[in-house]
Order: sequence, then C-alpha cells, then structure tokens
Amino acid sequence: MTQSNSVRLGFLIFAAFVSANAQSTDSASREAKMPTSQRGSTIVSSDEQRQIAATFVKEKLAVWQERLKLKDWQISVVMARRSDLKPKTLGATHWDKDKKCASISILDPSDYNLPFRDILNDLELTVVHELVHLDLAALPRSEASRSTEEHAINKIADALLALDRQR
Ligand SMILES: [Zn+2]
Repeated sequence: MTQSNSVRLGFLIFAAFVSANAQSTDSASREAKMPTSQRGSTIVSSDEQRQIAATFVKEKLAVWQERLKLKDWQISVVMARRSDLKPKTLGATHWDKDKKCASISILDPSDYNLPFRDILNDLELTVVHELVHLDLAALPRSEASRSTEEHAINKIADALLALDRQR
C-alpha cells in the first residue's frame, strides 16, 4: 500500500493556482495523477460507499487533527465530485487562518476507479495532505512557493501515512 502510494505520488505535479489577494484566507489543492486500478469492482452501492467513506474520513480527521496539533481549528470535510475540483486534483482546502476554520474537499468515492479499501486509504492521504497545509498556513505564500510547498507536503503526508500503516 505504501509502495503504491509512493508510486502514485511520484506523479504529483504542480500547476499554478490562482488565489485571491486575500491576506488571511487561502486555499490549496492536492494534485495528483488520478489513481487507477485494473482490480475488481465493489460489492456495495455508491451510496453505501459514500456513507462508509464519510464516517471513515470523519474519524481520520479527528485522529490527524489531534496528531498535528490542529485541534483549535474548525475543520469540515465535504465530498466533491470530480467536476467540482480543479483538474487533476484529488482534494482541496480553503482556509481562513485568522478564524482558524477550514473546509476540506475530498473526491467522492464514486469518482475513483479503485478498490474501495484503496479509496479509503487515498481519502486519508488527502486529509493528511490538506491538514499539513493548515500547519503551514502561517507561512507566507506566493505563486513561486506553492510548487515547493506542494512537493514538501506530498513527501510529509506520504511519510506520515507510511509510518502510521507500518504499525
Ligand atoms: Zn496541496
């Protein structure tokens, strides 16, 4: 799992993200080549998958929010269809660092082409990735720094999950 995540993350690329000139609010997307798999399909309906995924992500959000010391943030997670996300992204976050509130968008499971277990793992990766963005939210950002930030966050999130899944 870890290995395949690394491989998939190896495709992560950066594309400029036009942000408003806001001082406090900001956003970032988790960009990646869409993971795909030739393996078998699922046995539960997409509605059931969505419910299971929502519960799973809620639990993981609480766990990682605690680990990353982000308990003072109000963070919500919403499922987004592929068409609602920027092209080639698997998630996005909008945040207000002064209010310490953020909204994380994750890709709806029905828009993944992966076995359900792998979808859940990828959703957790998106959550961790977006939370690390919040940890860095106090830093100055520019168009030039975004690419570096994305690459660093991809590595950090990957490493965190690899450690977590080793146990
Ligand atoms: Zn990102």
